[in-house]
Amino acid sequence: MSLEALYARVAAHPGNQTILPRLCRSTTLRPGSNGGGYDEGAGVFFWEWGARIPDDAKYDLGYSHLMIHPATALVFAAQEGRFTFMIRPVWSRLDVLPCPRCGALDCDRRRRGPTLDGDVDLTALGRAWALLSNVAFEDEDDQLLWAYEQAGVTASP
Ligand SMILES: [Zn+2]
Repeated sequence: MSLEALYARVAAHPGNQTILPRLCRSTTLRPGSNGGGYDEGAGVFFWEWGARIPDDAKYDLGYSHLMIHPATALVFAAQEGRFTFMIRPVWSRLDVLPCPRCGALDCDRRRRGPTLDGDVDLTALGRAWALLSNVAFEDEDDQLLWAYEQAGVTASP
């Protein structure tokens, strides 16, 4: 499949309707890179934490970096700025406690917080998403792999 055809599938997927507007407005997917060596976050995202993710799930979109399941075209993780990482976590597998206030695992507190890029608010992405730094405790690589597997079997928004 061409990168143009893949982008068309990504843009049409109901589960991607909140993440795409968040990212760079480019519509040109390119194979995942390390940002020409100047993008520390992309290097970590794709080649350290994402080392077990197949390369055909890793794409650059302008200055953003995406993980897209090639079978379903669902975006399951993204990186922007210097060190801001977003994920569709597999909530049931996370080593996190429910929110003490609302009792939910997928509370909005998982989508707001500081990163090296400043305060980030991902609540507009919806409850499927989290800031990776708010759900991961040195298990970022496992979480990306679980998210990849989940993205391959679910088409839900
Ligand atoms: Zn809560």
